[in-house]
Amino acid sequence: MFNQWKIIVTAVMAITVWVAPAAHAGLRVFACEPEWASLTRSLGGDHVNVYTATTNRQDPHHIQARPSLIAKVRRADLLTCTGAELEIGWLPLLLRKSGNRKIQTGQPGHFMATDYVTLLEKPAILDRSAGDIHEAGNPHIQLDPRRIMQVATHLSRTLIRLDPSNREDYEKKLTSFTQKWQKKIDQWYQQTQPVRGKSVVVHHDGWFYLLRWLGLNQIATLELKPGIPPTSSHLSQLLSTLQKNPVYLIIYASYQDNKSANWLSQKTNVPTVALDFSPAENETLVHWFDRLIDQLLNVKD
Ligand SMILES: [Zn+2]
Repeated sequence: MFNQWKIIVTAVMAITVWVAPAAHAGLRVFACEPEWASLTRSLGGDHVNVYTATTNRQDPHHIQARPSLIAKVRRADLLTCTGAELEIGWLPLLLRKSGNRKIQTGQPGHFMATDYVTLLEKPAILDRSAGDIHEAGNPHIQLDPRRIMQVATHLSRTLIRLDPSNREDYEKKLTSFTQKWQKKIDQWYQQTQPVRGKSVVVHHDGWFYLLRWLGLNQIATLELKPGIPPTSSHLSQLLSTLQKNPVYLIIYASYQDNKSANWLSQKTNVPTVALDFSPAENETLVHWFDRLIDQLLNVKD
């Protein structure tokens, strides 16, 4: 008899443990890139359960639409992505295969950060032979803290729309994020005075917003055409340019191959820096920007 009770009690406990997490799961959010995962966590707190599709070790232009990602999109209440065709190679497929109506284009659960800011560098002429170009303009807005602020306001509204019972809490979180972020923007801008006006070379045209904000001049890209690896003829041309006009830095994303940047650096003595294109896992946006600014200021030869 005692044993029978023990079995029943154990079974009931097992079911309780198994069922419990679903009861307070909150909004299930599928973030395409770590920056939007981080922002959603800051604005959503305990009301959101965020899954990040990519890490800062991956190139967000080229991700495989794996079945595990489709499964996550299928269960999502909200997508937070960059948009403006950054994810054109993988997100439309995930959306189609997910069969989830809530997060399709035009639905409240479909949040594309670039829909809420002005994009720069819109190509005047559409020419696919010019490489992997971004037709809608440069989508890499996560590198402009002022644009992040605009996105935050709209993302908070979206959270309220999907989960109105927690409105007050979302509003409080937005206020505290905004106050802290604005202070940091001023601080970063002050800190970077010494490098303003300096020239840099970048691997891919991904740092445009950051450089423009800080007043750094991007004089060339290692990629002759966006998304296509640097060619040796383009690199030797760059070498002669840099020999005549030295620059402050060669910047590449830590997920990118550093061969070309290192080659050019060795020939010209211009230092290279590998910057994280996105925050690390569970890193706050503030901490990530602190690291970026620190790396730009403290260049190692
Ligand atoms: Zn790009």
